[in-house]
Amino acid sequence: MPDDKKGSAELELIDIYEKPDKIYTRSFTGFYRNLRIMGGGLLFLMFFGTAWINLGGQQAMLFDLPERKFHIFGAIFWPQDFILLSWMLIISAFALFAVTVFAGRVWCGYTCPQSVFTWVFMWAEKVTEGDRNKRMKGDKGSLSANLFMRKLAKHSIWLGVSLATAITFVGYFTPIRELIPAIFSWDVGSWGLFWIGFFTLATYGNAGFLREMVCLHMCPYARFQSVMFDNNTLVVAYDYNRGENRGSRKKSADPKEEGLGDCIDCSVCVQVCPTGIDIRNGLQYSCITCAACIDACDTIMDKMGYEKGLIRYTTENELEGTKTRFLRPRMVGYAAALIIMLGMFFYTLNSRTSFELDILRDRNQLFRTNASGEIENVYTIKLVNKEEKPHQMTISVNGIAGLKANSPMTFTVNAGEVASHIVRLALPAGIDTKGSKEIEFSISSEDESLPITSVSSRFITPIE
Ligand code: SF4
Ligand code: SF4
Repeated sequence: MPDDKKGSAELELIDIYEKPDKIYTRSFTGFYRNLRIMGGGLLFLMFFGTAWINLGGQQAMLFDLPERKFHIFGAIFWPQDFILLSWMLIISAFALFAVTVFAGRVWCGYTCPQSVFTWVFMWAEKVTEGDRNKRMKGDKGSLSANLFMRKLAKHSIWLGVSLATAITFVGYFTPIRELIPAIFSWDVGSWGLFWIGFFTLATYGNAGFLREMVCLHMCPYARFQSVMFDNNTLVVAYDYNRGENRGSRKKSADPKEEGLGDCIDCSVCVQVCPTGIDIRNGLQYSCITCAACIDACDTIMDKMGYEKGLIRYTTENELEGTKTRFLRPRMVGYAAALIIMLGMFFYTLNSRTSFELDILRDRNQLFRTNASGEIENVYTIKLVNKEEKPHQMTISVNGIAGLKANSPMTFTVNAGEVASHIVRLALPAGIDTKGSKEIEFSISSEDESLPITSVSSRFITPIE
């Protein structure tokens, strides 16, 4: 927007506690709408479909909290693998930063669950209550039997989608093939019912009623994404120089002769906007970059016989006639950080073992002399069996000649068990070793299917 125009903008006083007007979005068609339907459809398919995939008789994606193990496409992850989850969260955050620097809030417009579900709910609204004008008229008038039935149908679809979403979501934590029959036989349990009810209401409330309020006031990403924007970031913008002066005209009229730009001031771009803003007022934080206004305006431009793109994906630099630089230090920095973290994630994933050994010395008593006069040290052996079958394990100790075990050194660790085993090591009287000496515990499986794992510790004797 030219500076002289910016200066002349009028100040508007707004009451921040004022109840916002209900937004009635107008339906539209276009390239970006199709793109969004394809993206949203794919996400829906992934969300609702993945829960039903079984691999080797096991739900492919199951976060089994009571058993404390996460099944992810054949691999089992335990609380001990928490570091991988941290990596994934950090990687997701950096991927989001990199995408935002490059293309603004595309995540919000195309893939955010809040947006995807809102679009689905808006579709249900349209097929039951009609398009924008009909809905506005219906809400202004009295509630006829016909309108009541239409609203009932709309809320039924909303609740149906919400319930299916909630059951599927809970089905990622409780095996879905057991959950569905349990629901029908009313045998879900109070917690299961609570979470299904909670997520049904959350989906129904967020996508049906709160809608853009979530994006504008509740989503933290909306607040900090503006710091990632610069003049080279792709945004949805109105070409002010081309569009102004705006004004209605006959299709056959020459806008130049009438002193007009390409904007016919039809307000269709405002009517389709899910957050109810007028993109012609410049870049606004409320814009979720859904491109609905681009599709709408392109349709108008087509009808008028003007070139498309009055509202388009562009950068502030391009609008001001300067070159857009997609490759810039910030972008390179985020991309480099992302690549490094992906490398570290896959390295950690690759070096993950199916068996873990940890040795804890008894901290209460460094050593004791038993009835036979031997110096004894006590250790807790912690073993994590991340496999789906039990293992018979044997512990051996090296490092001090004559050191012997006063406790069983062979025991079983069940599938998925985090086992603790107490080991007593003793040094017979007469063997001369004073102070602290390093020893090495090695653990091997009887069937030799696991690699031998070794961990160092110390054996302590009296100094005098
Ligand atoms: S849809 Fe296009 S022509 Fe119509 S008001 Fe918006 S910018 Fe102007
Ligand atoms: S201004 Fe356009 S891109 Fe932004 S939220 Fe509204 S319709 Fe979507």
